Amino acid sequence: QAKSLGRNRYSFFQKRMEEQLSRRHQIEKDLETAVENNELLLYFQPVINVENENVVGFEALVRWKFKEKIVPPDEFISIAEQSEAIWSIGRWIIREAIAVLGGWNALGYADYSMSINLSSVQFKDPELVSCIETCIETFNVPAFQVEFEITETALWRDLKESRRVIGKIRELGCRIALDDFGTGFSSISHLQKFPIDTVKIDKSLMPGSFDGSKDIAIIMGLVAMSKMLGIDVVAEGVETDAHLSLCKAAGITRIQGYLYSKPLCKDTIDELYIFAARSQETR
Ligand code: C2E
Ligand code: MG
Ligand code: MG
Ligand code: MG
Repeated sequence: QAKSLGRNRYSFFQKRMEEQLSRRHQIEKDLETAVENNELLLYFQPVINVENENVVGFEALVRWKFKEKIVPPDEFISIAEQSEAIWSIGRWIIREAIAVLGGWNALGYADYSMSINLSSVQFKDPELVSCIETCIETFNVPAFQVEFEITETALWRDLKESRRVIGKIRELGCRIALDDFGTGFSSISHLQKFPIDTVKIDKSLMPGSFDGSKDIAIIMGLVAMSKMLGIDVVAEGVETDAHLSLCKAAGITRIQGYLYSKPLCKDTIDELYIFAARSQETR
């Protein structure tokens, strides 16, 4: 009896695994045509200057509109990374984000920065750097307004390759941010070894309650160290007033989080910031 139960279990798990695998293959296949079918879209999360609470920039965050559903990046980026699908998806994201920024610039709102997430697999895309260069030229965007976010794990995956590509991106004049800092093997040595302009403190470091004095110590330490290295610090996942106070106390200059705004679509941003500001000016 035990034996047959074991066998049943085995086939149950095997079936589950096969289902997951075929679901993955299906997503992989559907993703291949996502770009040409115009199914990708970008949301933009405002980045706020802590001192005056002004919006100083946006982070572009991709979504996939598939069969009337909005698929979040956590559900397809890692799959796209397992094939070269991420190359064309990544280039679409870069082009779209820079085009949107160029549009705002053309309207006279030329002070925003645009942060674009890069996957480590994109470092192997032979057209990555030329794509960035073409986009900043085409949409007439000063390179310093564009920042590329790279995670630490991406750096580790291939130190030589990432150093080479990051170097080329910086040569164009774009900025580099280290994303999700404080997760994984956050190593201080990365801050030294790579030419980084910004460190983004991961949302998991925002304390859950306010007796988390150790969390506070860690954040304050990170900020102090980054500043000494000439690196700017952005905090993400700022959800509460307590988080905001902590950021202020630690000397963090820019923040992102639900306290101010979720990621928004371009039309909403145009209404909230761009056209609202314009109609105020002409009033
Ligand atoms: P990330 O780059 O660290 O982006 C921050 C994530 O935190 C976003 O999730 C954002 O919506 C979310 N977030 C913002 N404020 C808050 C907050 O106050 N509280 C909480 N709990 N979450 C907040 P999203 O858009 O689902 O993206 C998840 C991850 O997917 C990103 O993490 C990034 O690693 C990846 N991703 C998103 N867009 C792209 C892209 O265009 N290219 C690549 N390669 N990866 C992307
Ligand atoms: Mg990011
Ligand atoms: Mg992050
Ligand atoms: Mg993240």
